[in-house]
Amino acid sequence: TRRPLIAGNWKMHGLKVPAARTLGEIIEGYDPALRAGVDLLVCPPAPLLHMFSVVAVGSRVAIGAQDCHAEPLGAFTGEVSAEMIADAGATMVIVGHSERRAYCGESDGVVRGKALAARRARLTPIICVGETRQERDAGQALEVVGTQLFASVPDGPCDFVVAYEPVWAIGTGLTPTAQDVADMHAFMRDGLCKRFGAAADGVRLLYGGSVKPANAGELLAIADVDGALVGGASLVAADFLAIAGAA
Ligand code: 13P
Repeated sequence: TRRPLIAGNWKMHGLKVPAARTLGEIIEGYDPALRAGVDLLVCPPAPLLHMFSVVAVGSRVAIGAQDCHAEPLGAFTGEVSAEMIADAGATMVIVGHSERRAYCGESDGVVRGKALAARRARLTPIICVGETRQERDAGQALEVVGTQLFASVPDGPCDFVVAYEPVWAIGTGLTPTAQDVADMHAFMRDGLCKRFGAAADGVRLLYGGSVKPANAGELLAIADVDGALVGGASLVAADFLAIAGAA
């Protein structure tokens, strides 16, 4: 059985004083009852990774990065390697978020390289996939996501998490129907099982896109939804904890 993972992607939000307060509230609220049932991950901007990792020691709240470079080091101005993220104390890293695919032109091949870099640095990658509104309206959602998933996930061990985030559901307040989420997650599980065999049963499949306290219960109850990747609502400790409580 897969332990649910509730991951907060803070995106480009967080200055150290208010951010540390929010992290403190999350740690405080991660009480034994919640800890018994769900894993929590907070992914702040890179400059806060080290401080967050130090603050979170002993709390069982995991800290993750929002992206990494594929190379371990080198002449790549402005980039951060998976090794540096691990060195800062983080244990997971989001790769292939749709914002990076859209604004930074990251292809499936680039995303796969980043997932491999995470493995090399002993970080768990959270590999993101998702269709646009246009693709869903054209009836191509499964096909598009299937292709992204196949090409973004590296061969080898099932040491990754997958996040299905429909692009049109991110930051819009819109979510797919429970049936559409169920169909997509079953399709992704099936594809991973065909490729990796029984080991794929252990891969956690997160849903992301406008997850809020009000809809978390319904979304997290769907078969093969093993957690959530939360954007906006993860910036408010009470909302993030309420979502975790619904898992
Ligand atoms: P929102 O929860 O703000 O829609 O963002 C989802 C997301 O992109 C998480 O990675």
